[in-house]
Amino acid sequence: MQEKVVMMDNTLKTLRHTNKLNDMPASAGPFDGTFDVDKPRDACGIFGILSCDNHDVAQLTYYALFALQHRGQEGAGIAVNDSGTIIYYKDTGLVPEVFNSTILEHLKGRAAIGHVLYTTDIGNRENVQPIVVKYKSGQMAMSYNGNLINTPVLRQKLEEKGAIFQTNNDPELIASLISIYRITSNDIEEAIVKVMEDIKGAYSFVLMTQNKLIAVRDPFGIKPLCLGKLDNSYIVASESSAIDAVGGKLLRDINPGEIVVIQENELRSIQTEVSGKTALCIFEFVYTARQDSYIDGASVYQARLEAGKLLAIEYPVDADLVIGAPDSGLIAALGFSRQSGIPYGSGLIKNRYVGRTFIKPGQSQREMAVRIKFNAIKSEIEGKRIVMVDDSIVRGTTTKSIVHMLKQAGAKEVHIRISSAPYRFPCYFGIDTPSSEHLVASTYTKDEIRDMLGADSLEYLSLEELLKTPIGAKCGFCCGCFTGKYPMDVRCEG
Ligand code: SF4
Repeated sequence: MQEKVVMMDNTLKTLRHTNKLNDMPASAGPFDGTFDVDKPRDACGIFGILSCDNHDVAQLTYYALFALQHRGQEGAGIAVNDSGTIIYYKDTGLVPEVFNSTILEHLKGRAAIGHVLYTTDIGNRENVQPIVVKYKSGQMAMSYNGNLINTPVLRQKLEEKGAIFQTNNDPELIASLISIYRITSNDIEEAIVKVMEDIKGAYSFVLMTQNKLIAVRDPFGIKPLCLGKLDNSYIVASESSAIDAVGGKLLRDINPGEIVVIQENELRSIQTEVSGKTALCIFEFVYTARQDSYIDGASVYQARLEAGKLLAIEYPVDADLVIGAPDSGLIAALGFSRQSGIPYGSGLIKNRYVGRTFIKPGQSQREMAVRIKFNAIKSEIEGKRIVMVDDSIVRGTTTKSIVHMLKQAGAKEVHIRISSAPYRFPCYFGIDTPSSEHLVASTYTKDEIRDMLGADSLEYLSLEELLKTPIGAKCGFCCGCFTGKYPMDVRCEG
């Protein structure tokens, strides 16, 4: 037995429950309980619904958070609007670790928002969202994904005026700004427009007030956010796979700089000023998003398949078998195989039961984590020239261990093909990557990296070709981590 806390009407109610968690094992659902130690990691998934059809909004949000679990595994939360009062439950852990049926039964209402958290500050409950605040006009809850580059400056300005904060987080700062601007605005939408003029960076968030659900996407559209419908009810989500998970239909992506206001069964759109230059994070297609999602008009699955095909055209190699690094390289490997005619096979097995707590920072533990997590299938590998496709190399630790495993399993040659360009620069927009000195491609040449990895050849898909992979995308892309050129001045201070 363990203690959890349900926040209701600002009253702390202690609820005893078992770890039975809806009779679901922690490994059930789309997320397998592990994450990649050597990959860029995203910073959260968000979801919101305002029901006009008497849906169980907490239950639907729970399912949607399952579908978004790959975007964040450190915490999860759901807030519901119960006849004008916002109640919520949140905690650190995976979605099925945080919620059980008893908790969900307490979360009744017509509207709900949910959040899965990625943070480097693991175990700190203060970071878990949605955040729920009271202000002069009532209550609001927010689920947020992104990173502002001018948080310190804005925060300092507010603190000098006497504002107090409980966290260092962007959503608390944004809520505070909304509250201040709301005093001189006709409605909350007008306050949000003013806030968007102040904040700089990549963000998408969904805000739930006592009578509205409001979805906001940053003016460059760096973070994805889409709109769907379930019966007569509107839904917003970081990815369309979450809309699919609740049986909804994707209507469209929310435009860069757009504010979508949902009230009853009506939807209004406010388009704020944008530069005209959109910059969706290209890494959504390379790694971050789920392969069954569509973002800004393009299929993530098709983009990964195309990346593999283009890689085979750009950098062909004589080999006997194409394998993918599980799971992130599998679709690109299939594309490489289809284009090259080299058979596709499973050369690596991934242990799906390695829990988050196993993985600790530090180089030696990372190497151990890779060995525990992957193993080569000797019967498939032995005596063959292998093409191993992966989506990216960040530190290189994982790739080096995998090459070693493949050679130990009897591979005659190992040729590495990466379905994105060399990852050389840090991300300032909420994708967690090591600093430049730990990004292997920022320090070493391609040949040096090949030798360090112990591979027979190493090639990366060119950026030019990578940008062709989101077929049909109706947006431009941020490629900052490949080029060092970001869609805005990242030294921005005000
Ligand atoms: S810098 Fe890279 S990871 Fe960050 S938003 Fe841009 S493309 Fe995405």
